[in-house]
Amino acid sequence: MRFVSGLSTPDKRSLVNFDDKVLEVFRKHIQRLGSDAEAGGLLLGEVRGMHLNLVGATFPTVDDLRSRCSFERLPQGHAEISQKMWSDSRGTVRYLGEWHTHPEDLPTPSGIDRSEWKRLASGRKDKRPFPS
Ligand SMILES: [Zn+2]
Repeated sequence: MRFVSGLSTPDKRSLVNFDDKVLEVFRKHIQRLGSDAEAGGLLLGEVRGMHLNLVGATFPTVDDLRSRCSFERLPQGHAEISQKMWSDSRGTVRYLGEWHTHPEDLPTPSGIDRSEWKRLASGRKDKRPFPS
């Protein structure tokens, strides 16, 4: 399993930084065992010009629907944390996206993943594109 603390677009103009707290959430939900289900949540952070600084990630609640190869997030729990971080930060920390695990070491996005990306990207007010 490989982790990076930052990513950039191919032209290096936009950077995405992951706080240690975010990486820790990812690490805790690696699907090590055959019985481990997918996990996921919201990515919360700050927009700094062209860059994104991810400072928090929500993780599965008992309400989420999880299996080895699927994860369906329900709003309960995630929405409250997102709202709290938004108000505690006076509106600087907000919803920036979503994450979920896959059981493979080298994951391939599913058809549902790709259609969700398109749906979420088209609904963004700033029209920032998602990676294809
Ligand atoms: Zn997926």
